[in-house]
Amino acid sequence: MQKIEHIGIAVKSLESAEKIYTTLLGSPPYKRETVESENVSTSFFRVGPNKIELLESLDPEGVIAKYIEKKGEGIHHIAIAVTDIVAEMKRLEKEGYRLLNLEPKRGADNKWVCFLHPKDCNGVLLELCQEITS
Ligand code: ZN
Repeated sequence: MQKIEHIGIAVKSLESAEKIYTTLLGSPPYKRETVESENVSTSFFRVGPNKIELLESLDPEGVIAKYIEKKGEGIHHIAIAVTDIVAEMKRLEKEGYRLLNLEPKRGADNKWVCFLHPKDCNGVLLELCQEITS
């Protein structure tokens, strides 16, 4: 695995969180993107070689809305960049990790993504991600 690619933070309001993180990091988001399949609106900030992804739910019943309802705003997932997501998925599945999606799916920021069950990762929702090149 290559590096921590980004940290995903669940927020109630993207607009107000963007202001907070723009001031905090000293630069505005480089990208805003709606991910229809996940029903979320996202903003991405660069922090050196890593990124912060802010996530706001577009659906009161969506996963991010439910997460905030249960746990409040905060770190939602950690994403690790990989060079071959299919190979990593196969390897981890063989090791007994549960994959939340059995095929790589299209995530935000031009990535193939796969999530691992938090119960298999000490309570952390882990995302594997690979840049879509073609
Ligand atoms: Zn993410």
